Amino acid sequence: MTNENAPYPVGLSLNAARSRIVEIAKAHSLAVEEVELDGALGRVLAGDVHAPRDVPGYRNSAMDGFAVRANDLPCSGTKAFRLCGEVLAGSNQSITVGVDECVRITTGASMPPGADTVVMKENTRTQGLLIHIDVGTAAGANVRAADEDFRAEDLALKRGTRLVPAQIAVLAAFGLGTVSVVAKPRAVLITTGDELTEFGQVLGPGQIYDSNRYSLGGLLEQHGVRLVCHQRLRDDPVLLRDALLRASADADIVVTSGGVSVGEADFMPQLLAEIGEVYFWKVRIKPGMPLLFGRIGQALVFALPGNPVSGFATFLAMVKPAIETMSCAIGGGAPLRARLTRAIHKQHSRTEFQRGSLDCDDLGVLRATPSDRQGSAMLSGLAQADALIVLPEAVHDFAVNAVVDALPLPGWPR
Ligand code: AMP
Ligand code: MG
Repeated sequence: MTNENAPYPVGLSLNAARSRIVEIAKAHSLAVEEVELDGALGRVLAGDVHAPRDVPGYRNSAMDGFAVRANDLPCSGTKAFRLCGEVLAGSNQSITVGVDECVRITTGASMPPGADTVVMKENTRTQGLLIHIDVGTAAGANVRAADEDFRAEDLALKRGTRLVPAQIAVLAAFGLGTVSVVAKPRAVLITTGDELTEFGQVLGPGQIYDSNRYSLGGLLEQHGVRLVCHQRLRDDPVLLRDALLRASADADIVVTSGGVSVGEADFMPQLLAEIGEVYFWKVRIKPGMPLLFGRIGQALVFALPGNPVSGFATFLAMVKPAIETMSCAIGGGAPLRARLTRAIHKQHSRTEFQRGSLDCDDLGVLRATPSDRQGSAMLSGLAQADALIVLPEAVHDFAVNAVVDALPLPGWPR
């Protein structure tokens, strides 16, 4: 699958293609912006975040109960303590606990001076101002240190973290109202094909509804990209050229679908070479082989094949790493490892992405079962699948229980 005459590489391995994409994407880093915590979900941290102070910041009770001095606790049976006040969470009262005294306390309330232990309410009995405390509470029990959660200056969150609710909660706990994140990449999506139409239109002979607009648009948004606009175009090189030039002026990434192979109406490879630069064309994968990658001006261009599954697979295998790299995101996208429940014989030498389901057996082992609907135009197989099972290049036979990579589809586990 090499083309001796092309002025760019043709027919790369998946790994070579992905490495090239990542290398190019590294030179396309994005601006940094400040967003409010309410808008920080899914955004990528632009810098390390250190704890600005100890958190929680004061010694406090981990339980509802009674604060005492550990030295006074009973060695056996039950012992009576004199109740000398109460401290509720949020109060600024300071009642000193003396010998054989206790203070009623609630979870999160500041520890009273003198006390170093909290006895759970469940291990006590109240009789007027006397609190009977059972044996069994360890010295220092149920007290949270002032720096239990974070110590001032601790590295709390690393640059490149894609923020999830727990991490945004950390920022909130530090008292921050905004956070520096990497700007969302801006994308224009162009779906191409004379046969395409949209909902509301009656299908003419040979026509289909444009589904890639939604699969690729959804994938872009799910991966933190701002979809600036979508255009649907006929297979017309003049219209396409114009749309590509306009899109590239307005976007960090241009994603197209269709018209990228060797058919009579496939204009993308030639057009990209004319108005931009082709980094490579065709990857030794199935489905998705005709993928074309290049740039127009500063915009990276991913021209994906039109078959719905091909577009999906090439997005996950190659557009996603570009987005993560441009966004300086860390940790995303490592494949899962799973055992095949069925033997597979692969007739070609390319890397294959098979649609399949994932489940965990009784021993906690992840298993992958290829679907019966593997056609690259079959949305039915894709919609039922949990993952793309990756069958590597050059290997033809995969036994039952063979360990393979699986790229989980967005939404898995369901
Ligand atoms: P192409 O890559 O243009 O040769 O198209 C390959 C196959 O994908 C053809 O069967 C097209 O009809 C189909 N296809 C192309 N674009 C879309 C789209 N946006 N939505 C659904 N199917 C498409
Ligand atoms: Mg086409």
